[in-house]
Amino acid sequence: MNTIFSRIISGEIPAAKVYEDEQTLAFLDIRPAARGHVLVVPKEEYTSLLDMPVELVAAVARTVQIVATAIMHGLRAEGFTVVQNDGTAAGQTVFHYHVHISPRWQGDSPIVQWIQSKPEQPELQAVANQLKQHIAQ
Ligand code: AMP
Repeated sequence: MNTIFSRIISGEIPAAKVYEDEQTLAFLDIRPAARGHVLVVPKEEYTSLLDMPVELVAAVARTVQIVATAIMHGLRAEGFTVVQNDGTAAGQTVFHYHVHISPRWQGDSPIVQWIQSKPEQPELQAVANQLKQHIAQ
């Protein structure tokens, strides 16, 4: 696979780069939700969070923290939203793992919004049990 993000990483197509280290790259999203919307990607191509070695997940998380700090100080943001769409059902359109960081200001439009449901405690416990069966201790 040669995703659009791999082509940015190789320099084949341009991007407004913000930060780069050995394992990760951060650049501006071309269709930003807000001014300063950044994408952080691993340089090695993985589709999903679930495919990635944990060290690379940590490297991306570190870059997210570095860029979020720059967003807060450099753009005088009042907060930021971090999103990762994993899978078509979740809205992923570029199949090269990436994390969105979008600056937030009081009163702006939400980046992520959901309708809250009100499950009873037994339902919450049933879901927790279902998940726990798939988590190795
Ligand atoms: P997602 O829907 O989570 O897969 O997000 C993909 C994001 O990549 C979208 O927000 C696009 O605007 C962004 N995008 C696609 N192509 C480029 C590009 N060449 N440079 C920067 N951002 C891009």
